[in-house]
Amino acid sequence: MPGFELFGDLERKEVNDVLDNGVLMRYGFDGMRKGHWKAKALESELQTTFSVNHVQLVSSGTAAVSVALASAGVGAGDEVIMPTFTFVASFEAIMMLGAIPILVDVDDTLCLNPEAVEKAITPKTKAIMVVQMCGSMGNMDALQSIATKHKLILMEDACQATGGSYKGKPLGSVGDLGCFSFDFVKTITCGEGGAVITNNENFYKNADQFSDHGHDHVGSDRGAETHPYIGYNFRISELNAAVGLAQVRRLPEFLNIQKKHFNILREALIGIPEVTFRTVPEGGVESCSFLNFFLPDLELSTKVSNAFKENGIDVCWNYYNNNWHYIRAWHHLKDMKSLFPISQEVKEGLAYLKTKDFSMSDHYIGRNISCLIKLSWTEDEVKERAQKMATIIKQVCAPKVVS
Ligand SMILES: *Cc1c(COP(=O)(O)O)cnc(C)c1O
Repeated sequence: MPGFELFGDLERKEVNDVLDNGVLMRYGFDGMRKGHWKAKALESELQTTFSVNHVQLVSSGTAAVSVALASAGVGAGDEVIMPTFTFVASFEAIMMLGAIPILVDVDDTLCLNPEAVEKAITPKTKAIMVVQMCGSMGNMDALQSIATKHKLILMEDACQATGGSYKGKPLGSVGDLGCFSFDFVKTITCGEGGAVITNNENFYKNADQFSDHGHDHVGSDRGAETHPYIGYNFRISELNAAVGLAQVRRLPEFLNIQKKHFNILREALIGIPEVTFRTVPEGGVESCSFLNFFLPDLELSTKVSNAFKENGIDVCWNYYNNNWHYIRAWHHLKDMKSLFPISQEVKEGLAYLKTKDFSMSDHYIGRNISCLIKLSWTEDEVKERAQKMATIIKQVCAPKVVS
């Protein structure tokens, strides 16, 4: 996945354009910048990449989720449905707005289980946030029809799935709003950065203003602009956008490499009876940022992932006990450890976390192994890795022969 592995002259040239004129800010300073508008140029490239009408760059993927929710009017006391398997950013971004994250089970897509989503809907629910984890996606038709039926916003966190698609649409563009991260380890990087994408003009206008102190962005004198409502600062800098501009132009190259490496690894595991692959919904095409597979039980997946580590197979994880990606270790959330007071409404809204049963998520995440696909591997390295992985899985899973 990581675009940082392939960083070079193209990125350097774009950054130097910015340094040569000294305009590090994305707005204003029209005369000084000599025609260089890196954030605007990147937004325009991303409109094409994601086939959407509007793109708003922001300072991070986490900011993108907060800005997207705020743009759709989600705030204090509203419930947002999200998966148990994701990055901590998902609930952070919801809680920033005083809203309440409602965690629900994932299924064998490793994304939201539509039935669990429907069960979790209450009169307070405002949005469903599907996280397109590890390069693939949830069952978008089912989720869309639940959202439509209950008049809810459908948001996609596609931070880990840049380049994937569902029924011909780029992931992120399927729901009402999509969010991306361009942090240092994502498919394309800005160093730090993120984006909100949408076809809804009103949501876009809100995101544009909200992420820049409420500036209406009318006219060419920033100081004279008006502020239709309260905003905050989630701006990206021109330096970060410049890196992303070079990276997005290389996205097709990155995706081709990812796919090639993914297929070599997948082919090597196909014949192993204990291995099953994650379900990709009909009409879905993975971004190939990760290869995900299941083993028969938690014990075997733990043994395999340990054996991988011991034998030099890095960047493969079983997330069951992971601190950052799965609910089991999110004690700070369950115990509501916050530097500042949390509202009574949110406290009451989060109380369910102490008792709710997530055994369906445990069933899938416990058996899963996720392997990051790197761009910098050579083809020979991938082939060797694939053989090693297959050998290790077969050895670990082989029935013990009693002599
Ligand atoms: C990386 C990531 C984010 C947050 O992105 P940052 O740019 O690091 O803030 C959010 N959601 C998911 C699923 C991610 O992988």
